[in-house]
Amino acid sequence: MRYVSTRGEAPDLGFEDTMLTGLARDGGLYVPADVPVMAHDEIAALAGKPYEEVAVRVMAPFVADAFSEDELAEMVRDAYAGFGHPARAPLRQIGPDHFLCELFHGPTLAFKDFAMQLIGRMFAKSLARRGERVTIVGATSGDTGSAAIEAFAGQPGTDVFILYPHGRVSEVQRRQMTTPAADNVHALAVTGHFDDCQARVKDMFNDLAFRDRVRLAGVNSINFARVLAQVVYYFTAATALGAPHRSISFAVPTGNFGDVFAGHIAKRMGLPIETLVVATNRNDILHRTLATGEHRLGEVFPTISPSMDIQVSSNFERALHLAYGGDGAAIRQLMAEQKAGGFAVSQGALEALRETYASGRASEEETSAAIKAALDTTGELLCPHTAVGWHVAQQHLGAAPMVTLATAHPAKFPDAVEAATGIRPPLPPRMADLYDRPERVTRVENDLDALETLIDDRLGVAA
Ligand SMILES: *Cc1c(COP(=O)(O)O)cnc(C)c1O
Repeated sequence: MRYVSTRGEAPDLGFEDTMLTGLARDGGLYVPADVPVMAHDEIAALAGKPYEEVAVRVMAPFVADAFSEDELAEMVRDAYAGFGHPARAPLRQIGPDHFLCELFHGPTLAFKDFAMQLIGRMFAKSLARRGERVTIVGATSGDTGSAAIEAFAGQPGTDVFILYPHGRVSEVQRRQMTTPAADNVHALAVTGHFDDCQARVKDMFNDLAFRDRVRLAGVNSINFARVLAQVVYYFTAATALGAPHRSISFAVPTGNFGDVFAGHIAKRMGLPIETLVVATNRNDILHRTLATGEHRLGEVFPTISPSMDIQVSSNFERALHLAYGGDGAAIRQLMAEQKAGGFAVSQGALEALRETYASGRASEEETSAAIKAALDTTGELLCPHTAVGWHVAQQHLGAAPMVTLATAHPAKFPDAVEAATGIRPPLPPRMADLYDRPERVTRVENDLDALETLIDDRLGVAA
């Protein structure tokens, strides 16, 4: 399969190079040139199959030039073997036509493990085959970094540097990043917020000399391999609820637009998805964009759902690329305007987006109230991100069954859950000693030179 850049000026790549590269050299994001469509019968045949089998069926056509089906099946099996639930992404009914899809049974208790555990193995396999090393640099609002450090710690062929906003991640998130002992993983606490971290990572990719010197690779959700791994649970959830014989809607707590965009890929593959509901917290640029067509950057407010505290939502570029019919020049123009504060989506593109996406927001008060209300009415303790999804999902219940993606375990955000309900959710037993493990972290300024120097030094590379 060929992958093309959303900005149309970088070379087309196969899956392996797309995965190892991350961001395209023209600043764009790689997307499949053509999304393979599954026949109605093929989708119907997925119902009730083990998660791993569905994963192979869904992903094989996307990765075929890099991995055989047997290789893929082996990596998938290893990736999910450590999950704390046999269904991997179990559904739980919470209303007459409303379900939670629990995506928090992986090693770091958030949905990021689904992609990261798999691509850690894909990277190791590709790099061993090529006899190469890469330096992985990523920005995190908390969950990506912990999942990446957990997945890549000790993996041969990789060094990993994770930038997170100092003081703006939960204690569990921070400890999951700072306590793994492997010396190929490095947690960097940056003075700034998530968008600063993400901007510095993009700057490093755009500094082509640095990029080539350290062989930079990215595992943020700009990496299409991440998005691909997340397509799978849309298939397991929807087929469990009667797809392809009926349509299903999903409510997705959204920040960087990777998870909800995976749903868009599932829909283009033929899965009957009625609506993808983009649920945002107070940082509601995506909701405002879908409501008004105006994509205007604002201030980033820290919230109790910190993994969604974002204004520059990278993967939205992929949805825009589809909505503009694959017009790379149009996307380059929009992204240039975004640097200057924002842009207006054309009427045609806005209509195209609204065919797939609906949206809503939850304020801080509404998020806390949703945690409490969900507990009272369903007996479930929701993490604050999931509560944002649940709150917005309530406004979009309709003809199709609704699946709200439960993106993290409540114990990952115990302060917010306790403040809302009086109950402090305990960590699962397998990570109960997290608070006793020693931490390792480096403080660094929000400055490109300082970051590049630090990485060169750690790698022993001369600038
Ligand atoms: C990353 C994350 C989100 C947002 O997902 P995106 O793919 O960035 O939109 C939501 N909830 C939790 C718990 C997360 O870790």
